[in-house]
Amino acid sequence: MAKTALITGASRGIGAAIALRLAQDGFQIAINCLDEKNRDEQGLAVREECQKKGVSAECFIADVSSHEQCKGMVEQVKEHFGSLDVLINNAGITADGLMVRMKEEQYDKVIAVNQKSVFNMMKFAGAVMMRQRQGRIVNISSVAGVYGNAGQINYSASKAAIIGMTKTAAKELGPRGITVNAIAPGFIKSDMTDVLPEELKQKILTQIPLGIFGEIEDIANTAAFLCSESARYITGQVLVVSGGLMM
Ligand code: NAD
Repeated sequence: MAKTALITGASRGIGAAIALRLAQDGFQIAINCLDEKNRDEQGLAVREECQKKGVSAECFIADVSSHEQCKGMVEQVKEHFGSLDVLINNAGITADGLMVRMKEEQYDKVIAVNQKSVFNMMKFAGAVMMRQRQGRIVNISSVAGVYGNAGQINYSASKAAIIGMTKTAAKELGPRGITVNAIAPGFIKSDMTDVLPEELKQKILTQIPLGIFGEIEDIANTAAFLCSESARYITGQVLVVSGGLMM
């Protein structure tokens, strides 16, 4: 029976690239979209691209910061596909600003979407995987969670937390044959980074030994490796994919 992968925030960017890459590897694909608008405007196109690779794919709506909506989505995916074998926690947002000027809501929102979502999803998907006695979880962190980043106190807190959560979940779920790892991307070209000022982008570029920004496929390939049989003995790790920006 084909295995099922659920990717949060899969309607565009890194999440969409991971969905397509896992579809290429033969997984049935559950594409999480934030709401109906997000599904209709972007998610359905990703679904079609996955289906062109010869696998079943479906969109599932949930705001991953909501505990209840995550619970409902995991139940729907399990019912639709019959199993849930891979979870990619990719959904994320930024709301940058210097710490002394940051509003409380700005802080709380990023923590809810980037960090609490990972608890929500690992809790419900982890329970399904424990019953199956196998599974793979990949959480998308960031180099900002390891070395910090001025203007991103909320974002770096959420991404650092994901690393601790990954290691805790790896310890709790390992005995049931489930691996849990994180990827810490550096600067990857996507809608999230497109909005940054050109001057800042050029400054970052000078700090990348490989001299180029990453592509969304670089993260998708890493996620696919962690979900493959080749990575069966890797758990609780953080793979930095940054062109050498962080060593
Ligand atoms: P993106 O903005 O293109 O994609 C983010 C996705 O998350 C979108 O599909 C969006 O709809 C979804 N999303 C946002 N809030 C959601 C919610 N509440 N519920 C469900 N879905 C929601 O950004 P991206 O660059 O593709 O980033 C993907 C992940 O990679 C994020 O977690 C981001 O923090 C991380 N990351 C990106 C970079 C980079 O350089 N692009 C670097 C490090 C980490």
